[in-house]
Amino acid sequence: MVIKAKFASICPVCSKGIEVGSNVEWSKGQKATHAGCSKPQKKATKSSTPSLRVDIMEKGFHITGYNITPVMNGNITGFIQKTLINDEAKSFLLEKGYELVKIDSVRFEWCNVDRIKSDAEAGKIKAKRDSKGLIHVYN
Ligand SMILES: [Zn+2]
Repeated sequence: MVIKAKFASICPVCSKGIEVGSNVEWSKGQKATHAGCSKPQKKATKSSTPSLRVDIMEKGFHITGYNITPVMNGNITGFIQKTLINDEAKSFLLEKGYELVKIDSVRFEWCNVDRIKSDAEAGKIKAKRDSKGLIHVYN
């Protein structure tokens, strides 16, 4: 039940102080909590924009994300059949042989590793994997 606090205390839900006279939820044998108190929300993600997103189309897929150069794979016209976000998107791309690659030391792009290898072998680009496992591509 909701009563006026008779004593100052610490709310066990949010760990903040309860002032005398404020509304508290109380039942016998339980510590009083702020009336309607709920745990503070975990810090919201920095933005509602996912850091990685893959839209799967009928004949291809489209990679977008925070700080990532968008990449089209195949024909991306038509309807989105499925959208994968963050971890799910990452697993999908790894499965497809893609890795996050640093291009010209300035931008990131998900690239097909086999494609990088063949382009590097053909002399179209320079590619190397650094000690942390990140592939760098220089055009
Ligand atoms: Zn509280």
